Amino acid sequence: MIHDVIIVGSGPAGYTAAIYAARAQLAPIVLAGSVTAGGALMNTTEVENYPGFTEGIMGPDLMTHMQEQAERFGADIRYEDVTALDLEGEVKRITTDDEVYEARTVIISTGSEYRKLGLEGEDRLSGHGVSYCATCDGFFFKDQDIVVVGGGDSAMEEATFLSRFGRTVTVVHRRDSLRASAAMARKAMDDPKISFAWNSKVVSLNGEAALESVTLEDTVTGEHRELPASGLFVAIGQIPRSELVAEVLDLDEAGYIKVEAPSQRTKIPGVFACGDVADPVYQQAITAAGSGCRAALDAEHYLASLKA
Ligand code: NAP
Repeated sequence: MIHDVIIVGSGPAGYTAAIYAARAQLAPIVLAGSVTAGGALMNTTEVENYPGFTEGIMGPDLMTHMQEQAERFGADIRYEDVTALDLEGEVKRITTDDEVYEARTVIISTGSEYRKLGLEGEDRLSGHGVSYCATCDGFFFKDQDIVVVGGGDSAMEEATFLSRFGRTVTVVHRRDSLRASAAMARKAMDDPKISFAWNSKVVSLNGEAALESVTLEDTVTGEHRELPASGLFVAIGQIPRSELVAEVLDLDEAGYIKVEAPSQRTKIPGVFACGDVADPVYQQAITAAGSGCRAALDAEHYLASLKA
């Protein structure tokens, strides 16, 4: 069977594309991933800036709503991981762990993953003090000394969340001003448990079986100092998950899929990209949802052109 629309990825972009494609009677299949279904919002707490929720909404609840809305209109959500994409030609082939699908259009909304520090011992200590997700692991650091690395919205969000557990929370940022939005920066700066190590970067992770401390380097003076920490939360941005299409689609220098703005068309007819994997600039749940809507409308127009 050749499907009209297959959506790879299940964050706000993928589910919004599914809602629109399903309402257009295109019977979309969403390949949601076996572990990461729901995308980045599954690892957040309160989302306060998604329109329509006056009092905010928990990230996982928002994703459940989107999924159920897509299913209500007939989207078929499958918890499979895509392992290969063959996108050339009018019929595309999408291979998962379980099946090989064929479709006339493919919408890629694979999101992004956590950027790592790239320090020695980072992988070894991951799960033993080093984490990339405060809502997943924060609870394990009750009354302990916690370090958060980064100066963006994610770092502020992580630090604010972790302050309810930690004895101390120190935000380590490589500059002396934050990248985070004013509202989120203010919330962290007003929190009495959170302190800031400005102009600082983590240069080593200390501890054998578990993290015990980090060494900071002053980015101005070059001086080193040790900071006790049993928890280190890395929140230094994301890397687009575009590896499956790196050989066939155009990517920018950071790996984001290039689209033909204002559409979500990629350079291959019938292939569209939306959400964080195609957005080096905004990366908000609402912009991801908006681009998912555009991708589905673009796919609908493309399918209509095939029949014309
Ligand atoms: P980001 O905005 O790119 O910020 C990354 C931060 O990490 C920057 O402060 C950067 O420093 C620092 N950094 C990058 N590489 C580093 C390295 N190797 N070592 C040390 N520090 C490093 O990423 P983000 O905070 O994950 O946010 C991504 C997007 O999601 C943004 O658009 C953000 O607004 C959005 N977001 C929104 C919310 C919300 O609205 N609730 C929550 C989370 C994220 P420099 O500042 O020096 O570059």
